[in-house]
Amino acid sequence: MLNALKWVRENRIPFRVRSGRHSYENFSLVNGGLIIDVSEMHEITVNRKGMTAKIEAGANLGQVYNELWKDGTTIPGGTESSVGLVGLTLGGGIGMLSRWFGLTCDNLLEVEMVIAEGHSDAKLVKANKNHNSELFWACCGGGGGNFGIVTSLTFKVHPISKVSVFSIIWRWDDFEAAFDAWQKWAPNTSDRLTSEIELKAKEANQIIAQGEFVGPSTKLKALLRPLTDTGSPVKVLIKEVPYIQAVRFFDDPSGNQAAYRKRSGSFLDKPFSSNAILTMKQFLENAPNEKSGIWHQSLGGAAGRIGPTETAFYYRDTIIAQEYLATWDNPAEERRNIRWIEELRRALSRHTTGDYVNWSDRLIRDWPTAYYGENLNRLRAVKKAYDPFNLFEFPQSIPPFTKWI
Ligand SMILES: Cc1cc2nc3c(=O)[nH]c(=O)nc-3n(C[C@H](O)[C@H](O)[C@H](O)COP(=O)(O)OP(=O)(O)OC[C@H]3O[C@@H](n4cnc5c(N)ncnc54)[C@H](O)[C@@H]3O)c2cc1C
Repeated sequence: MLNALKWVRENRIPFRVRSGRHSYENFSLVNGGLIIDVSEMHEITVNRKGMTAKIEAGANLGQVYNELWKDGTTIPGGTESSVGLVGLTLGGGIGMLSRWFGLTCDNLLEVEMVIAEGHSDAKLVKANKNHNSELFWACCGGGGGNFGIVTSLTFKVHPISKVSVFSIIWRWDDFEAAFDAWQKWAPNTSDRLTSEIELKAKEANQIIAQGEFVGPSTKLKALLRPLTDTGSPVKVLIKEVPYIQAVRFFDDPSGNQAAYRKRSGSFLDKPFSSNAILTMKQFLENAPNEKSGIWHQSLGGAAGRIGPTETAFYYRDTIIAQEYLATWDNPAEERRNIRWIEELRRALSRHTTGDYVNWSDRLIRDWPTAYYGENLNRLRAVKKAYDPFNLFEFPQSIPPFTKWI
């Protein structure tokens, strides 16, 4: 990695850093430049006594969960096994254990990173709470690709054995009732329970809530009553499983298949009014195809007990992360799908706040504040200190203080 960075500097070649390849806007790719791909570095070393794990930057979530499970431990990460741990962590990292163990970045103890030095050199640095602490702060939510090439991440790990999972499906007729019940319940139920709800296009006729509870299924059944008592669910599944089976339950292998996609997102800091719910319904009634949807994950709990400026992940006071999804098969359908996402985001923006940097969207004009809120200036100062020549640049990289935005 040191040589790679030195080489691109000496040869003045544009470059990008890549791990799991899941950047929504292909920020880990560049035409006519060098891709510094870390994915062959994926060694994972667990220190069971100290309850820590040092994970090389190329590991994906599947490798991480499977390896840590051998020691009966885990970290709270995202749901799809093909996602790169490093991209996920640097942007925050939400998933089915967020309310119990916090965001992925909240469990980060140390980062090793290759950064630029002088006019043409590179060096390896460590960043943690005591050393290069501003860089460490920025690595907890500031987004990938901004400061240097991360080579490893050290995490605090948590013991885990059995958990309980659930899945509830309603039909379109229960649209308002199901979403309203979920949004009022999900951020306020037991911190041990994190959940998601996907509102699918009317054509698909499916509203599906799922989640994971770090506890027994009998307790989960009782906690779920506000949902199971709502409308007329057509399916209710509640089961206690070894943790690694829960990982597989939420994993969607289609996430790693090439497809035409557009995504964007935002956060809710309070439950949606009936008006806002109706707006979502109208968009889903007129969705480009049955694969379109609006996905949500509950926040709060441990993720909300950290202040907005304590890490670079700003949206700590929000209760729900909301993501807009469009997928299509034929390139000719691109414009319609992208327009649908854009119009949906705009129509809901009166009711939402910001966007999650890991759901990057080139069409968001005020993206620096949308991703970083009040943390933007501090991130720009870190950028200036650690990447003064703005070598790590891409269409939505953090602008150093010297650059006008
Ligand atoms: C199918 C799918 C499922 C997802 N599920 C979740 C989820 O459950 N929870 C969640 O929070 N997010 C989720 N995401 C979003 C995901 O967190 C981001 O897309 C993340 O940036 C992906 O990281 P990556 O390493 O896979 O991607 P890459 O495209 O390789 O990298 C993403 C960014 O990080 C930079 N980067 C990569 N490697 C390094 C490195 N070694 N050092 C410094 N910078 C680097 C890249 O330059 C790029 O800017 C999902 C995305 C997809 C496509």
